[in-house]
Order: sequence, then structure tokens, then C-alpha cells
Amino acid sequence: MKNSPKLGVAHRWLLALLLGALTLLPVAGGGEWAEDALPKPPLKDFENRPAFEVLDVRAGNVLVVRLSGENRILRLIGLYAPKSGSAEDEARAFLLRLLQGESVYVEYEQDWPLRDRQDRFWAYAYRAPDGLFVNLELIRQGYARLSAPEPFEHQKLLRTYELWARKIQKGVWSPRAPQRVQDPPRSQPAAQRAAPAPPGQPETGAHVKVYVTKHGRKYHRKDCYHVRRGALELTLKEAKAKGYTPCSHCKPPE
Ligand SMILES: [Zn+2]
Repeated sequence: MKNSPKLGVAHRWLLALLLGALTLLPVAGGGEWAEDALPKPPLKDFENRPAFEVLDVRAGNVLVVRLSGENRILRLIGLYAPKSGSAEDEARAFLLRLLQGESVYVEYEQDWPLRDRQDRFWAYAYRAPDGLFVNLELIRQGYARLSAPEPFEHQKLLRTYELWARKIQKGVWSPRAPQRVQDPPRSQPAAQRAAPAPPGQPETGAHVKVYVTKHGRKYHRKDCYHVRRGALELTLKEAKAKGYTPCSHCKPPE
């Protein structure tokens, strides 16, 4: 057989290709931990919204930005960044690479105080003009862990990406990482959204109870994640009289 050596080579190539494809399958294929299977980041329309110029990155979760000549320090919501060590340096360096010379669109958590104790604005940052969700990107790339003093709107999304980054050992989750990010105090899983009122029972009037927080400007259903850390019970009528407006997350009666 004249052709057999040639065929042998071809077969070896095919085998090598097949084996290569098989080893790639767990990463490229479907399944629970494929990146394709992750929930999509929020798609925001930032048209006609001002973008803040990024002046400085102070830490893996702290930015200095400027708009119309006014400087503002942003504390990125949901991110635990270590105070010292190489993990902290890496998180800050990553954020610098992501945002140096760029601008960000800024959003706030509607039922949190606007600023933290150090007068920094609690914020979600989205890179302009592509809308990259910066808070999520830090988690997704394994530069930060999820942590926050209160539940927040994008908590579930960030948590899902954190689990994924951990599973595939990205960034600080890599076994080769020089220093792993330490466990911050954990917040509890988000509460389930309250069921709407049974049909036939209007949700208005003085008997409907709603809930407000110490610093918030919104009123909520009892099971909203915003009021899990303690809340004041009011009637809907009282809440409205005091100028509270309905939460857009739990959609309480209006
Ligand atoms: Zn709410």
C-alpha cells in the first residue's frame, strides 16, 4: 500500500484536531458555566445623559470624576476591594486600564443614601460611550468580590457573575493569584418580591401598609429587598402625605 503512510499522517491530524476540540468543549460549549448562559447586563439608554470625565482611580472601587467643573468621588456599589496588598493594587490597575482617559455615565441606588460616611457618592458607573457596566466588569474579571451594606438593585446579577468568575478561577480566584481577596461580611440572599394584591381587593386607602427606610425617599412592599434591614411601617396614605414615592423595583400600590 503506497498511500498508507500519508493516510496515517492525515489520521493523526484528525485525531489531534478531535482531541483538541474535545478539550475545548467544557469552555466553549454550553452548560451551566458557559459565559453565554449568564444573564445579560442591563442595556441602558444614556443618550442625552451627561458623561463624567474620569480624573483618577483611587482604589478598586473608588473613582474621581468631574462634570461641569465639579469633582465628585464615586464609591462603586456592590464591590468589596481589599484595603491593602497586591489584590488591591491589581484591582486599581485594572480599573485604571478600563477607564483612564474615559468618561462614565453615573447612576445611583434609588433607596440608598446618596453618599457614604466619607461623603463619596454610591454609584453605578457605565463607561461612555459603549455602556460597559463597570461595577459588573470588576466582578466578571475577578478583580472584586460582591459586598454591600444594604441590598441593591443589581445584586443578583453581580452575584451570578461572581459565582461564575470563582468557578472558572478568574483573577483573584485563580490558584496562582498572589493574594486572594478575603471574605467580606456577607449579605443575605435577596428576598422574594411580594405577591400582588388578590383580585377584587383594591390596594388603595388608609388600610394598606407600606414600608419606608430611615434614609430612603421611596415606599415599598414588605418583602422588597430595600426594606430587609429594618423599615418603618406606614399606611399608604401616610406615606404619600409625607412625600414618599413608590419604589420602581417592588412596585407597591400607588
Ligand atoms: Zn421596593
